[in-house]
Amino acid sequence: MQIIDGKATSAQIKKEIAEEVEQRLAKGLHRPHLAAILVGHDGGSETYVANKVKACEVCGFKSTLIRLEDSVSQDELLAHVEALNNDPDVDGFIVQLPLPRHIDEQAVIEAIDPAKDVDGFHPVNVGRQSVGLPCFHSATPAGIVELLRRYNIPTRGKNVVIVGRSNIVGKPLAAMLMQKGEQGDATVTVCHSATPDLASVTAKADILVAAMGRPGFITADMVADGATVIDVGTTRVPDASRKSGFRLSGDVDFEAVAPKCTAITPVPGGVGPMTIVSLMLNTLEAARRRD
Ligand code: NAP
Repeated sequence: MQIIDGKATSAQIKKEIAEEVEQRLAKGLHRPHLAAILVGHDGGSETYVANKVKACEVCGFKSTLIRLEDSVSQDELLAHVEALNNDPDVDGFIVQLPLPRHIDEQAVIEAIDPAKDVDGFHPVNVGRQSVGLPCFHSATPAGIVELLRRYNIPTRGKNVVIVGRSNIVGKPLAAMLMQKGEQGDATVTVCHSATPDLASVTAKADILVAAMGRPGFITADMVADGATVIDVGTTRVPDASRKSGFRLSGDVDFEAVAPKCTAITPVPGGVGPMTIVSLMLNTLEAARRRD
């Protein structure tokens, strides 16, 4: 059984990005610039955004963080989005989700210029991805595909089962893995809460992806011997023994499932770091397009 080390892989990719940035600067090209809008003080969002800012430093990117209070109106937020759309110094930006309830998340996503939508959430990028055109791929699925590629785990002809059909993980990952080509060519099944007898479907997977947000839900009886298991779930579970008061839990019962697998991602240290690095890769691509 092999542990798929997203932390080490992402560190290697960040090194490769930093080298390209150095080469860009030596050629007189601009430093890639990623901006982020963070609304409110949600603990998870604060951590994600802090990690993104840190990744920018490691990659040699310029980063800008715009902090807005929970009470910000939708119009005010949209005005910030518009300003970033029009800022020629910004290559790409993200609006950290989730947003407060009084704000229409989809309206905000659709206000982002697709050319700067490095999260890959805008319907233009989603649509381009689904028909196999160049686009910004959604960061988490792109990170998973890159992990599989770097660990030489083929998807061609494989039976991939994804549990979870969200717009940011399940659906775009299914679209990527079913595309014609080396990184796709899989037979993909997407499951959700209305899937009957889930275990009978997951047990047929060569590659099983769990993206539900249900800690430890995937048990050993749901996994085929020799499967590759990708655990996307990251739920904060109360843990009094930790200074933070919580630990991150994946959707897979790791201790029981790992011995059956050919390869498996841990939580933390699996998919999470790859999501951030995909955002960096999208920003670098946006900078290349602006050259
Ligand atoms: P989401 O929007 O809440 O979607 C969860 C999906 O799981 C839904 O499609 C839901 O089905 C399905 N589901 C829930 N319970 C189920 C059950 N008992 N049986 C079958 N399907 C079930 O979640 P998300 O945004 O995709 O995130 C999923 C998890 O991944 C979360 O823990 C999140 O924190 C994590 N995540 C991690 C990263 C990372 O970088 N590591 C990035 C994104 C998300 P329905 O559609 O029928 O409701």
